[in-house]
Amino acid sequence: MFEPQADCPASHVAAHTAAGYDDMAALDAFAAAVDVVTLEFENVPIAAVERLARQVPVRPGAAALAVAQDRAEEKAFLNKAGIETAPWAPVLSQADLENALAFTGRPAVLKTARLGYDGKGQSTIRPDTDIDGLFDRMGGVACVLEGFVDFDLEVSVLAARGLDGEIACFETVENIHRDHILHRTLVPARVSPEIDARAQEIARRTIEALDYIGLLAVEMFVCADGRVVANEIAPRPHNSGHWSIDGATTSQFEQVVRAICGLPLGKTQRVADCEMRNLIGDEADDWAAILADPGARLHLYGKAESRPGRKMGHVTTLFPKPDR
Ligand code: AMP
Repeated sequence: MFEPQADCPASHVAAHTAAGYDDMAALDAFAAAVDVVTLEFENVPIAAVERLARQVPVRPGAAALAVAQDRAEEKAFLNKAGIETAPWAPVLSQADLENALAFTGRPAVLKTARLGYDGKGQSTIRPDTDIDGLFDRMGGVACVLEGFVDFDLEVSVLAARGLDGEIACFETVENIHRDHILHRTLVPARVSPEIDARAQEIARRTIEALDYIGLLAVEMFVCADGRVVANEIAPRPHNSGHWSIDGATTSQFEQVVRAICGLPLGKTQRVADCEMRNLIGDEADDWAAILADPGARLHLYGKAESRPGRKMGHVTTLFPKPDR
């Protein structure tokens, strides 16, 4: 496992190369020591991925990663594949922002094109928001402006694609956010069979269009009129798939290993209805109380420091169907 930070959670369970992504000697030594590489963090510099890919298969590869790293690339890619997103426009200056806002209307969301997550690098533009100087306040970096999607609920689908092109999707799950951070995932999502089928089709089409090997999460908005609108993709195991550790025949983590190693994909069906709740900041401190529920499946990540807004663990509750 390659990760610049010492004492990261994965170092507690795997051999750890603690080196910078620009440390070519460390990257080369790592490549020589492994059979295949995958990523569970999308902001690994492309140059590091390309360096590894010259020596060992990297799945997913640099091309898919480049799409997922940049919101403008991502939306352009999705639209080209025939998948609807929020109306959007690239913003590289204050003048762009003003023009883009005339196109999307208000409310709208200005997002940095790169390195944003959990609501970081985002600014909502409401009817009364003064946008004077907003581009500079966002750091003067490349952004995208998105029209606001008036959604009923948010869903995601995790899709895996193997070396032979076989695709297996986990079922459509419903994501409930609090303060822009995923709070709960409900399995299955409370959507009609038609919406479910549309969400699954979007995930399949995305993973196929990317010619992707590995596991991909597609986050979507479901609108009252039945439209399913793609929001973003994540080229890795995803928080909204953590329920699968306890609630599916094959977990998302096993599935990604199967996909990248050229093994047959596992069954993705759920063994019970589930609810996954994230433990944010000090919510993870009182884990003994969480265990008082005998049905709770607790997962703590072993992060060195707890901070407000930081995901420290999660708890999954299973609701098995009564015996027939
Ligand atoms: P993101 O970082 O793009 O996943 O955005 C985080 C959350 O902000 C989403 O899960 C939505 O709840 C909300 N959000 C982001 N973009 C939009 C949009 N265009 N319209 C409405 N809500 C949005």
